[in-house]
Amino acid sequence: MGGKTINRQWLINGNPRGRALALTDFVESEAELDPLEDGDVRVKVEYLSFDPSQKGQLENIAGYSRGGATGEVMYARGIGEVVESRSASVAVGTKVAGFVGWQEYASLPARSLEIVPDDDLLTARLGPLGGTGLTAYFGLLRVGRPEPGDMVVVSGAAGAVGSMVGQIAEIAGCRTVGIAGGAEKCAWLVDEVGYDAAIDYKSENIKARLKELCPDGINVFFDNVGGTALNDALARIAPHARIVICGGISRYEQETLPPGPANYFNIVFRQANIEGFLLSGYEAEYDVARERITEWIRSGAIVYKEDVQQGFENIPATLLRLFSGKNFGKQLLKMGD
Ligand code: NAP
Repeated sequence: MGGKTINRQWLINGNPRGRALALTDFVESEAELDPLEDGDVRVKVEYLSFDPSQKGQLENIAGYSRGGATGEVMYARGIGEVVESRSASVAVGTKVAGFVGWQEYASLPARSLEIVPDDDLLTARLGPLGGTGLTAYFGLLRVGRPEPGDMVVVSGAAGAVGSMVGQIAEIAGCRTVGIAGGAEKCAWLVDEVGYDAAIDYKSENIKARLKELCPDGINVFFDNVGGTALNDALARIAPHARIVICGGISRYEQETLPPGPANYFNIVFRQANIEGFLLSGYEAEYDVARERITEWIRSGAIVYKEDVQQGFENIPATLLRLFSGKNFGKQLLKMGD
């Protein structure tokens, strides 16, 4: 490959703080590839991962590790193949995962990339074996601390993280209720993922259904959504419940943030624990967790679903899918036609 190859990229073009993401927050651009520096490799991007936190990162919200400035290539994790190498440790033809960004070719230090096996679990390294699965694993097991027999309720349950949480809770011997949007997602949760019951928040009253499904209260509430789901769950927590704040996607597009949940004082009455966490706090233990999740996938104890969109031109629209619930499974995009 010479220095004249053209690299198509999507650049940051707006800050969506306090509003919904728009396609105009990104602009397409082209750049010539520069010669590689010593220690760098050139990766032809094959798959991109989409995560709700990318909006927060675009907004430069404190607490996220990377901010984004107008004119920069939109950052994103992905998987690709090394097509050129100036690193002794990573050969051409190797599959790698890392922060490749929204572009056809990423030129990165080899040390910043993770070498991944080119097997049937290749794309799973962006989902159940990537940040998604690890978030579910550490959030539930470390922060939620489930005990056999516990009632575990999950919001955003049909999402990439939420569907993993329910299955890990089942493995831990818990009973599970998932809250998700729409009949199709709820049927999938019960029929294929193995949740004991599902609540369709778009057509059912969460509070009334939780009362019916959790007569003895909720021991662990794993929250990906915030808002009504969190407030209604707080009304039903059992003594010494653990409330895991993983995400709050219902507030990611709001201009004025809502006041705290009205039922928060139940945390006092039930002597409960509410705790937020970031996956990055568990980095030292990723390998052990990945080994266990791989075993669960191989044994059939865990199933996962991928929603794979296609084509460079569809990248921005694919990120927007997460905020309208159009994604059904871990949101990915395959580059090329
Ligand atoms: P995901 O759940 O696969 O996709 C997002 C889902 O959110 C959509 O499919 C949609 O599902 C739901 N949603 C969107 N807008 C909503 C609204 N206004 N009210 C209720 N539900 C809404 O995404 P994910 O990657 O697995 O992420 C799930 C959550 O985990 C996010 O909140 C994310 O920020 C958080 N997270 C946290 C960490 C951490 O370290 N703490 C790490 C990774 C992810 P429905 O169709 O069911 O509405």
